[in-house]
This record gives sequence, structure tokens and C-alpha cells, in this order.
Amino acid sequence: MHEVSLVTALIDQIQEVAVQQHFTRVEKIHLGIGVLSGVNGDCIDFCFSEVTKDSILSGATLSYESIPIQILCKTCEKTSNPREPNDLRCEYCRSGDIRVQRGKDFLILNLEVDTEV
Ligand SMILES: [Zn+2]
Repeated sequence: MHEVSLVTALIDQIQEVAVQQHFTRVEKIHLGIGVLSGVNGDCIDFCFSEVTKDSILSGATLSYESIPIQILCKTCEKTSNPREPNDLRCEYCRSGDIRVQRGKDFLILNLEVDTEV
């Protein structure tokens, strides 16, 4: 499952940071999931405790929010936030010649850790 490998990658990423910043346990993790990222937050939620049980993320509280789409229009150079992922057009001039600036990401927005002295 796609989401399992994402959580596994997340563990690797956090483990690296943990070595650098000397923490041993994560208490809370807050993720940002882009509307266009293709990641299903419910699936992450569903597999999270199972995948993380023997890792630094074991027992951590998971939460997430979705990151809305933001596009930059190449025609009129305005940014807009289309709600419909299948209709990525400029809200001002309706041009389809756009660049996606936000909404494709899957990232850690916040991490609360337990630092042992
Ligand atoms: Zn435009």
C-alpha cells in the first residue's frame, strides 16, 4: 500500500532529525497533505500505529490537515485557489496555462518531541 511506504519514509526522515537534535521520542506529529498529492489521510491514520509501533514514532499522536491548491497563472500572473482538482484554471482569466505552487506536497508541518537530558 502506497501510504505504508510514505509512513516508512517518514520514520526514516524523523530518525535522522532525532540523531541531529537528540530526541528519542515523538509525542505529536502533524502532517500536511496536499489536495493534489494523491495521499489519503484516512489511510495514513489507519496504518500509522501499526507501521510505527517499533520506531521512534511509536505511540505518537497523529493529526493532519489538507493543503489547498494554489496556482500561478502564466497568462495574467495572478495566483488563485481552485477548489476542483480536475479543473485547474485561473480564476481571473480562465487560462489553463498555469503552474501549481501548492497542493502537491506531503510534509511534516509540526513535530512535538520528548527530549531526554
Ligand atoms: Zn489568469
